[in-house]
Amino acid sequence: MEREKLEFDVLFVGAGPANLAGAIHLKKLAQQKGKEIEVCLIEKAESIGAHSLSGAVLDPKALKELMPDYLEKGCPIEATDLRDGFFYLTASGQFKLPYTPRYMHNAGCCIISLSKLCAWLGTVAEELGINVFPGFAGTEALYDESGKRVIGVRTGDKGLNKDGKQKSTFEPGVDLLANVTVFGEGPKGSLMREVAQKIGIFAGKMPPVFETAVKEVIEIPSESPFLKSPDTVLHTFGYPLGLNTKGGGFVYRMKENRVSLGLVVGMDYEDPMLEPYQEFLRFKKHPLIADIIRGGKVLQQGAKTLSAGGFYTMPQLAVDGALFVGDSASMQNVQRLKGIHTAMKSGMLAAEAILSAIEKNDFSMATLREYALKVDASWIKTELYEARNFGQALSQKGLSKFITVGAQYVSGGRGFVDPLKIVDDATTMKAGSLMAATNVQDLDGKLYLDKLTGVYWSGVKHEEDQPCHLVIPDPNLCVTRCWDTFRSPCARFCPGQVYEMVQEEGGRRRLKLTPSNCLHCKTCEIKDPFKNIIWTCPEGGGGPNYSIV
Ligand code: SF4
Repeated sequence: MEREKLEFDVLFVGAGPANLAGAIHLKKLAQQKGKEIEVCLIEKAESIGAHSLSGAVLDPKALKELMPDYLEKGCPIEATDLRDGFFYLTASGQFKLPYTPRYMHNAGCCIISLSKLCAWLGTVAEELGINVFPGFAGTEALYDESGKRVIGVRTGDKGLNKDGKQKSTFEPGVDLLANVTVFGEGPKGSLMREVAQKIGIFAGKMPPVFETAVKEVIEIPSESPFLKSPDTVLHTFGYPLGLNTKGGGFVYRMKENRVSLGLVVGMDYEDPMLEPYQEFLRFKKHPLIADIIRGGKVLQQGAKTLSAGGFYTMPQLAVDGALFVGDSASMQNVQRLKGIHTAMKSGMLAAEAILSAIEKNDFSMATLREYALKVDASWIKTELYEARNFGQALSQKGLSKFITVGAQYVSGGRGFVDPLKIVDDATTMKAGSLMAATNVQDLDGKLYLDKLTGVYWSGVKHEEDQPCHLVIPDPNLCVTRCWDTFRSPCARFCPGQVYEMVQEEGGRRRLKLTPSNCLHCKTCEIKDPFKNIIWTCPEGGGGPNYSIV
């Protein structure tokens, strides 16, 4: 098929904070030097920010470097002057820790909605003359004839039916070609997977690992005591996950009587019957949280994974013609529960390296490696290096978790063993009791939502008549080994109720998919114990429609 080809100097794939900051910084630097460069930014969501979701407490240091006058320019901030409360939860009570670890202090930080921040950065990018194309999913990386040098990406075809045949609305994808392509797809990017298979950017690294978060923005009554409490940022651990499953909860105060609330679950959990969404509901029903949100109503819900491996799982950051930034490159600081600032800084450092490559007219790995050197010399490295064993420590069971964390705390991150091993999330599930826990009861459809109602409040929408974007290489495995050993954990770990094991006439089981519910969180590709789910990009413009989470 003949495809249109569009050429740019630099192509950013994915409009998260890393690439938005990168594109803006690059354009500004080029303008300061009087250089005209064509920059393109594509995003699979219908609008910029619509697939961006995070807690989020933002450390604004990268934002200040990017745009010192960000407040005057109208950056959407929900709250400043933060004060932290750190709680251990039991099933019916809580204990407020008298001491908050140094890396969890949030003085100087602010609460934001990541979807709002990205939407705003998108307008800044457009004003600078960057070609911003939402609704375009990169579905294939393009290489030169050597097969090793990235030369751009192909966007997905639009207007194919379920069988892959062209409808009357068919529009072929476009080849976007660039001297440098920057991949900022967020955690578990599908193009990153492809590039990694071809170029081996994760070779010699520990496996990237992840956490999944379910989050809501809830409007609470104006007389709620939480709105008058001095604590604006609550973090919890313990119930409902216990001490053997990594993760914890958060509640952040926003503007207009709103709270941002969520539960993060480490994807290295072992119990196949665990359901992150049900744990999220249990968290909301805990007395500490239930008191805060009583009388409220959910305004928006969503789910997303975040990279949790950190320093030892960072891939090779540059190859011929391409760079990897932000969560795609495991730059989340799990210890600080933050990654937006590191993502933005990585994009900005990538921009500086790209500009120097443009000046040399050399886009080889040898030149683009300047980006990796800049990361190494920056505060990204300082932060991530101190947290290098933290996620692994949290993965330990029971009290040894606290002993290991304590040892790291006093030794600048080294602890007893450095590096502590990281285990692939897909391999940690253990066959054991296959009795599902009772689901949370008394859901009212307003404050406590069942999964499908939550999907509705994520605004998710896909063209129904298109090829299924969830590829199951061996469907038979789902109804044999996976069912027998783990009772189809995809039906539980997916927050979008996409997977359902149904029994047909004659008793034969079949895995039924509802891909139009997909929240693009990627949990399924990460956690499937047989690696039998491959997430690919659906038609551009499909997916959730976040605007305040
Ligand atoms: Fe997330 Fe996969 Fe479910 Fe989509 S299908 S919501 S990516 S777990």
